[in-house]
Amino acid sequence: MESSVSKIREKLDKKEAVVMTAQEVSELVAKGEDISTMDVDVVTTATRAIMSGTYAILSFPVNSPAHFKRASKVLLNGIPAHVGPCPNERLGILDLIVFGTAHSTYEHNYGAGHLFRELVEGKNIEVAVETDENVSFKCDVRLEDMPYAKLYATRHTFKNYAAFVNCSSEPVDTIFHAASFDPDMKEATLSGSGEINPIQNDPNMETIGVGTRMLMNGAEGFVIGDGTRSSPGKPNLAGVADMHDMDPALMGGFKTSAGPECIASWAIAIPVTSQSILDAVMETDKDIPMVVNDIDKRTMISSSTYADAWKGTDRSVGFHPNSCINCDTCEPTRDCPMNAIYYKNDKMVLDRYLCFNCGLCSTICPGNVFTAELGKLHFEMDDKKYDIPIVLRQTDRKRSEELAVKLKKKIEDGEFKLNEMVERIYP
Ligand code: SF4
Ligand code: SF4
Repeated sequence: MESSVSKIREKLDKKEAVVMTAQEVSELVAKGEDISTMDVDVVTTATRAIMSGTYAILSFPVNSPAHFKRASKVLLNGIPAHVGPCPNERLGILDLIVFGTAHSTYEHNYGAGHLFRELVEGKNIEVAVETDENVSFKCDVRLEDMPYAKLYATRHTFKNYAAFVNCSSEPVDTIFHAASFDPDMKEATLSGSGEINPIQNDPNMETIGVGTRMLMNGAEGFVIGDGTRSSPGKPNLAGVADMHDMDPALMGGFKTSAGPECIASWAIAIPVTSQSILDAVMETDKDIPMVVNDIDKRTMISSSTYADAWKGTDRSVGFHPNSCINCDTCEPTRDCPMNAIYYKNDKMVLDRYLCFNCGLCSTICPGNVFTAELGKLHFEMDDKKYDIPIVLRQTDRKRSEELAVKLKKKIEDGEFKLNEMVERIYP
């Protein structure tokens, strides 16, 4: 039976609506339950992953009026910002655009993703300004000092993404691996939260459109249209949200062998207004194709499914510090993309707040200090079958699932209001 957003909103207001996470629906499907559009009104979806197409617009005072004419160059904790477009002549105010893929000029593994998270954590950020009159000065700024700080997506939350292997005979440095990608198809990495990915649950974008309210890094924001490289077959979204309301645990920087990248999270509530949406919601990881790409040539070589990534695998790593055999070089400490493994008072720590649940440490620790079942990528190519060990997930399915639960609770408590889109993205 067809429904509408307004009817579902009425049910929500009367506390009569059924809200489920996409994960809960998948669990019912796995048990063989028969679900109809009468059984569920809203499905919450989420993904936390590396999302390069991110930029921030920041505006804040750094000096008294007339102290300088215009800024010409600005670094934030060493990250180059683009000054303008508004010149703010003689106002002592900076308007800046900071690309999520920008890297610090003095710290190799520090990028704009780290900067955005530190801003949201309320930390002091060093601002180094050069003016067009060749005067330089520095000051500190915090998010609370910024009247305007918004994060924009140029390309976020693809319907799902892909897995990667390296078919060449040489290691490849890439944004799709935290270390050099081993050659000869020895290992695989992947992105995409599968059955709980937002657009995967509304693939025809019947309810997700321009103006749809969503959560970006935990803050309420809006879809503003399609993102770059989006197409009806492989859609993604552009959006915006206020950094003042964001949750630092849902964002951050991620070290790769091609430099630091930016993490972002999205949560979208899908009103179940049609059978076609329900059909998509009921697809589980085993039904969802995961394209397999060669990282060297960036070409598709085969296809697997998201069951390889997320069915029967561990969402997070186990930590057994007493098993440590004190190797000469501790690769997990060196290669952890979040710097979440370190020593404190001579004791090894796994910082769960920083950890992205990528799993890499479990594949490079000979002492089994870090343990996780990450699964294997199964596919066929040229009539040959491959089972390639997955060594890194660039989607944090654990926090994605938690985020979908959080959005469900917000909807049930009336804190997050479903809205109608203003315009369809793909009519
Ligand atoms: S790699 Fe594992 S076993 Fe070796 S020092 Fe590091 S934590 Fe210990
Ligand atoms: S799973 Fe291991 S390597 Fe990955 S972020 Fe967490 S601690 Fe670091």
